[in-house]
Amino acid sequence: MSVRVVDGTRPSHRYRTHRVPPRFDLALSENPFPPLPSVLRAVHMTLAQANRYPEFLPRRLPTLIAQHLGVGADQVVVGSGATGVALQILQTLTTPGDEIVYSAPTFDGYPIMAEMAGVTAVPVPLDSAGNQDLRAMRRAVDRRTALIVVCRPHNPTGTVIPADDLKAFLSDVPSRVPVVLDEAYVEFLGATAYVDPRALIAKHPNLVVLRTFSKAYGLAGLRIGYAFGRTELIARIGTLQLPFGMGAAAVAAVAASYAAAPELAARTLRIAERRDALRSALLAHGFAIPESHANFLYVPGPGANTALRRAGIAAKSYADGSARIAVGDPASDDAVLQALTADPPRVTT
Ligand code: PMP
Repeated sequence: MSVRVVDGTRPSHRYRTHRVPPRFDLALSENPFPPLPSVLRAVHMTLAQANRYPEFLPRRLPTLIAQHLGVGADQVVVGSGATGVALQILQTLTTPGDEIVYSAPTFDGYPIMAEMAGVTAVPVPLDSAGNQDLRAMRRAVDRRTALIVVCRPHNPTGTVIPADDLKAFLSDVPSRVPVVLDEAYVEFLGATAYVDPRALIAKHPNLVVLRTFSKAYGLAGLRIGYAFGRTELIARIGTLQLPFGMGAAAVAAVAASYAAAPELAARTLRIAERRDALRSALLAHGFAIPESHANFLYVPGPGANTALRRAGIAAKSYADGSARIAVGDPASDDAVLQALTADPPRVTT
């Protein structure tokens, strides 16, 4: 399937295009489910001690995450969402004037943080199917390149680079250039597409895998993200760890989330099923929507974003009128289908 994807990245602001709050806010790829009661309870308990500082430098959280991943605690660095960790990566692994290679469009944070770090962005257009063009990205790497970002799944299309292509790419890029493998939506990937990051890290000392509790774990408001890789690289990134930078609720929220893995996995599956149902319904109406492996769909324009906005639905918009919408809430999924097709609601599963 051919999908037209243009770069038109503008920062996402809640209600930017709406004078009144929209009926449905699907612009930030959030999880439609509120936190699980067990997670809420754990977080509440920490609030009773909010007069106390958290750890000076986080130790318990990286240890907890490392145990879950099966890596060493010194291989994990945590931060204020994946965004905070990504900025730390840019600030520690690049110097102003360097270049960062990523696909365009991509997660807004990359162009924004590149600018903050004084690093020149080298955006590489997606291919016609909405995939990251690894060959073109490889060609864009030169002696000024200080960082490469590959997203798997990709934002905003939800597409996934085949595992073999990723492996070949990692073997092909110069080992002096750090590569961020952004796996913000990895929990939505099916088992067949999943690649064990530990094997990749063992082979590539320049690889750092970025993840978040904002998406499948549904904790975007708590701002918990992390990266893992080889000890030496993580130590470099850790040099800019902000003292007292991680709120005390993070450890409790992560521990409770790991304990609730089956419930969270059921929610993730539900979101994926609803996503596929909405995509099928839209495909039937002729929308060329890429197969998404995340909690959103990319609706190519023109007119997609306008139709959604007119129906009171906030989407992430792109310069050519395309839109990215978060999925998983039956009511908003139905509203999206109606807004785009004028059909009566029928995707609810
Ligand atoms: N990477 C990608 C690909 C994303 O889409 C996002 C959020 N939209 C992030 C990283 C950052 O997530 P957070 O800062 O909430 O952890």
